[in-house]
Amino acid sequence: MNIAIGGFFHESNTFNPIITGKEDIVVFEKEEIFTNKSAFIMAKGIIDYFQERGEYSLYPLVFMKAVPNGEINREYYLLLKERFFAYLKEAPQIDAFVLALHGSMRVEGIGSAESDLLADIKKQYPSTPIFSALDMHASITKTMMETADAFVAFKTAPHIDVWETGYKIAELADFSLKNKITLKTAYAKVNCLIAGEKSETDCQPMKSLIDELHQLEKEAEILSASYCLGFPWADAKENGVTAIVVCKTDQERADHAARYLADKFKEKKHLFGFSMPSLPPEQALIEALKQEKKPVFVSDSGDNPTAGSTADNTEIIRLLSKDLKDKINEKSILIAGIFDPLAVAFCEKNMQTEIELFVGGIYDTKYCKPVLLQGVPIKKIEGFGLLNTTLILFKTKEFELIICSKHIGFTNSEMFKALGINHLKKDLVIVKLGYLTEEFRDDAAVSFMALSRGCTDEVLSRLDYSYQYELI
Ligand SMILES: [Zn+2]
Repeated sequence: MNIAIGGFFHESNTFNPIITGKEDIVVFEKEEIFTNKSAFIMAKGIIDYFQERGEYSLYPLVFMKAVPNGEINREYYLLLKERFFAYLKEAPQIDAFVLALHGSMRVEGIGSAESDLLADIKKQYPSTPIFSALDMHASITKTMMETADAFVAFKTAPHIDVWETGYKIAELADFSLKNKITLKTAYAKVNCLIAGEKSETDCQPMKSLIDELHQLEKEAEILSASYCLGFPWADAKENGVTAIVVCKTDQERADHAARYLADKFKEKKHLFGFSMPSLPPEQALIEALKQEKKPVFVSDSGDNPTAGSTADNTEIIRLLSKDLKDKINEKSILIAGIFDPLAVAFCEKNMQTEIELFVGGIYDTKYCKPVLLQGVPIKKIEGFGLLNTTLILFKTKEFELIICSKHIGFTNSEMFKALGINHLKKDLVIVKLGYLTEEFRDDAAVSFMALSRGCTDEVLSRLDYSYQYELI
């Protein structure tokens, strides 16, 4: 049998004015995905499942992914979609689509990319089943419900079951095709948005809610149960939490189980909270500077590029270079980092020279201004990571700052290693993140979350939503 596979993976933050374009997006077309599958883990899960079995022929179409950011450029999305369908026309009769989608990708002027793509697939291939893996922060729309046969979402945050989720949706597709049955999927919505950093699955109430999913999946009839939490930093009409249950043949059981999960969520929603000590930025930094152990991690949660913020908010830099500079007392501070292509270009021309440099505040003009720093660009790395980013290490009297030419995440120590920095020796490491990644959590002697303003503001009530959700 023939399976068409493809992937559109982006978390789009509508509060971020940046339009995510070609230069921000990594694309693998057709067979390219086979040699690059480790760079798209959800797709790898799908491919590995089918390749292990060898009974199916895979027809890869288009795979695109980008670091979360503002909405996707409309023309570029339409071009990728056009190629997706053009490659499909070259393939023989397709028996199923198995996709790697995020679920909260948005395109300027179009809205939900998943709704747009799935509706087009359904229009052109009305009788071909569609299966898709999703991020836990997927926003399930009515169109998605009407077009797909089944969805399976991550059960972990931070997301460490990405491969498993791809593998699982492939298994569901296999089950449906082999047994010639149309799977029965049910959805139940809860009209609330949960701040991203309150949904860690190691913490309550998510831990026990995820246990409910595992319990249901023990039933022979239930193939999969998921919670999609929606994406809090998208001001979108069809957002919020959705429970999804996929059954083999029993629609009633699926409906009942999905409603049960939604009710459980409502029952526990008052229990959501932050797992790290969370303070306004100035207080978080003062507390961090008082600590004796090291390294102390502070996450600048209002400007978290892994949740689609601009990554150029300067509030923490402003505090450390101005208001709090007398409280630093010789402590070594690393700030990772800031997105500023212009500052990178200026540094490149003035390496090892003392300069005055404006950083940040180009995209985030709502919550900060560019900050003028005096210091020396002491190190430069070119071609870092998949997006070929140029990194500058800029040293001021108060701290070392990593300046990036591309909008990238600060999720592990690769960047520090590339720049020859041992972050474990620093007193204070400031990262543009929300909850810490597993690696940083292991590294941190103590950690604080700075509740900074920005397009990933954790205090959802401070953001302007035009749609009504209960904000948690
Ligand atoms: Zn997510």
